[in-house]
Amino acid sequence: MDPLSDLNPEQRAAVLHRGSPLLVLAGAGSGKTRVIVHRIASLVEEGAPPWSIFAVTFTNKAAREMRERVARLLGPRGDDVWVSTFHSAGASILRREGAQIGISTRFSIYDDADQLGLARRVLREANREADTAAGRDLLDAVGRTKNGGEAPSGEQAALVERYGRALRAANAVDFDDLLLLPVELFAGHPDVLERWRQRFRHVLVDEFQDTNAVQYRLLELLCPPGADLCVVGDDDQSIYRWRGAEVSNILGFEEGHPGAAVVKLERNYRSDGNILAAAGAVIARNPHRHAKTLWTDRPPGEKIALLWSEDERGEADRIAALLHGLHARGTPFGEMAVFYRINAQSRVLEEGLRLARIPYVIVRGRSFYERAEVKDAVAYLRLVVNPRSDVDLLRVINSPPRKIGETTIERISRHALGRGLCLYDALAPAELEANPELDGGSRGRLAGFRTLLDGLIALGPSTPAARVAEEVLARSGLVDRLNASADPEAQERVENLRELVHAASEADVRFAADAAFDAEPGAGEARARPEDTDRGRGGTGGFPATIDEGGPLLCFLEEIALLGEADGPVEHDRVSLMTLHAAKGLEFDAVVIAGMEEGVFPHSRAVGFRSAAEDLAEERRLCYVGFTRARRKLAVACAQRRALFGELRFNPPSRFLGDVPPDLFDRPLPSPAEARPSPAPRGSDYTVDYSYDQTWRGSAPRFVPPRGRRPAPSAPAGASAMGLTVRHSVFGVGRVVAADGEGPDAKLTVRFPSVGEKRIVARFVTPV
Ligand code: ATP
Ligand code: MG
Repeated sequence: MDPLSDLNPEQRAAVLHRGSPLLVLAGAGSGKTRVIVHRIASLVEEGAPPWSIFAVTFTNKAAREMRERVARLLGPRGDDVWVSTFHSAGASILRREGAQIGISTRFSIYDDADQLGLARRVLREANREADTAAGRDLLDAVGRTKNGGEAPSGEQAALVERYGRALRAANAVDFDDLLLLPVELFAGHPDVLERWRQRFRHVLVDEFQDTNAVQYRLLELLCPPGADLCVVGDDDQSIYRWRGAEVSNILGFEEGHPGAAVVKLERNYRSDGNILAAAGAVIARNPHRHAKTLWTDRPPGEKIALLWSEDERGEADRIAALLHGLHARGTPFGEMAVFYRINAQSRVLEEGLRLARIPYVIVRGRSFYERAEVKDAVAYLRLVVNPRSDVDLLRVINSPPRKIGETTIERISRHALGRGLCLYDALAPAELEANPELDGGSRGRLAGFRTLLDGLIALGPSTPAARVAEEVLARSGLVDRLNASADPEAQERVENLRELVHAASEADVRFAADAAFDAEPGAGEARARPEDTDRGRGGTGGFPATIDEGGPLLCFLEEIALLGEADGPVEHDRVSLMTLHAAKGLEFDAVVIAGMEEGVFPHSRAVGFRSAAEDLAEERRLCYVGFTRARRKLAVACAQRRALFGELRFNPPSRFLGDVPPDLFDRPLPSPAEARPSPAPRGSDYTVDYSYDQTWRGSAPRFVPPRGRRPAPSAPAGASAMGLTVRHSVFGVGRVVAADGEGPDAKLTVRFPSVGEKRIVARFVTPV
């Protein structure tokens, strides 16, 4: 396909520009990401080797989409282009080159909970208060030190250093390290840097407005003056200031890169006129903007739907009804999304969609991996790759319970500390013998645990991840214990563990497919000559290919560790639920934004009397991002009262709604005074129900009896689910043959053609 097809003149100029750095600074939906994709294709068409192109973006989902779009233009030639997130690029660089700065290639990536575990352990060993708050304080100090903030002094400084040592001893890195260590590596090893500069002749960055100082530094190192660097972004969509993003990176780009070309794109191809007008009206209120025009020749389209309800449950029902209506008119569910400002809003929305039988998927990758049983299984897997990871070992040494108590654990920890060993080494037979504090019984149990680990490690690095995961489940006793448990949730936990095996098998497939993708210049030939043991390493322009040495399990673990917010399973024809932050860069036919109220969106943090003006400006940009995701239909929802974080709030409608010209809405906006409910009659149990349907304006409040169990708007799962055909994410499609209970917690017995009958909690299946 012609890389210049379907481009307007400005886009074409950006795609074809050569010879100096390039900045594309443009509003939402104007084709910035399209420019990146077409520029990659055009470089390859011109003869640039695909592996010399490095395109970086912010979420795995965006990277995946970009790879697909490149493949559409280039076919298999596109496979060798390096499209990645900053963090996963950092991880890849470290796996290949970490040895230069003392990082072993099989390092583990610690997430927030892992880091907290390690921090508390460091505090305990230093005989300090080691509760969660103290652990968080230490991690804050670590973060500040790493990111060049105010350095801690005295005792705190010593603890920060101890934490760093413990992290290295565990052969682990944290998230900041994934960016900082490559910077340290490149800054300290000019020869290594030169090799990567030689490799990445063309660097392209999407969503550049959200880069932070370390990411910027990494780009600077990789792209010396004269290098081919192309960045695209929109300062109005900078939404990660709170995480250290610096919008000055994009606004000051021309100063930092003299001679840079700047291209502006002004035509929006994504949204209908009304949507674009509403988004423009909201963002126009921000002070200090880099002025941009954005126009479309699309028709105005539908008005923006205003969903006004009594409470958050009513809101969820209204949203469900709207989505059903759109579906009936031909929009696939997969082209719809519901956004919210805070994760806590999602539970009620989910419930509403489930009751209305709307298939949905929560786009929030990490949550699955944060469940206790899944974390246990993953800890075993991480130990298989890196037995030195004490945090993981401590997590599972007595999980499932094997009578290894706190005292015993303290005894081996002391022994390990005294001898400078990791815990795994402290469990070696000779060390157990040499530990005078252990009695015979605990020695035997500890030896048994170490044997279990060694058996798993012996499976070797090339064993498929799914196979290792199955062995972990079988040998560790995790599944047996759950099966023996009377806990009603045990079955669900077993299903989660099965889902983990399933995820591992999918990763195995990807690993096999990616083997070619990860091929380095020269490595392809090296593979063809297996006798060449020193393939690429130190060779001319060659790259150590350690990803292959790590094997499928290492890759699977890395994928899990790097899951970002916008990385839910790829599901078809389901409504996507996600936070506004996760929605960046995506587009849908229909978008609903829930909770458009003061104190929710804009967030309470941004509207308090001590809030900084910049916090409100960032919320406004987030609103602009949210509105501009919609192609044809935008709906905004708010509720008169809302239970959130265990408290009942009466929030006026969001000021952002007031910024939109009223005639763009499908009904009048209530004034803040009107939006307030009048109190219920004194002494009565009755609550006020404003019927804010079409007729809300004139209607007098009705008094309705207090709600008991909320009646479901459509047939609930439960007795009435009998005979229904349902879909489960792992077992596929089956029929409900028995049901126990009502609502989302009902226990269903479902007969699947593939695996027979399974008992499943209703919430885990969707009607088909
Ligand atoms: P965002 O700021 O939200 O990241 P963007 O500037 O990256 O948006 P794209 O996602 O690249 O915009 O493009 C928005 C939509 O417009 C996409 O569906 C894209 O295919 C379409 N589009 C962009 N340019 C053109 C064009 N020249 N002709 C037709 N469609 C286009
Ligand atoms: Mg984009």
